[in-house]
Amino acid sequence: MDIFDVFVHQNLQRQIAETRREGAKTDDLVDELVTRMERLETVNAALWSLLKQKLDLSDDEMKGAIRLTRERAHTAPSCPACGRKLLVRNAPNCSWCGESLIG
Ligand SMILES: [Zn+2]
Repeated sequence: MDIFDVFVHQNLQRQIAETRREGAKTDDLVDELVTRMERLETVNAALWSLLKQKLDLSDDEMKGAIRLTRERAHTAPSCPACGRKLLVRNAPNCSWCGESLIG
């Protein structure tokens, strides 16, 4: 092994270590997202349970509302701050990031 091989080997070792660190960061991010998604699923289930009881709504009405929201999302404008599609037309704030949409 000559000096060039040693240099290449060290460079590869650094790249491998960096790739492992990036992979660990990605794993952490995925874990956070899964935890957040599970929390949101729980909140959604609780909200839907309350709405059914308090407002006497049916599952079909909920499915219709979901379908309508999905259809509107395709043509909805995007938030100027975060770029995501706005879920509610004429809402004062972005549902995603909270950016004020008035003015
Ligand atoms: Zn936004």
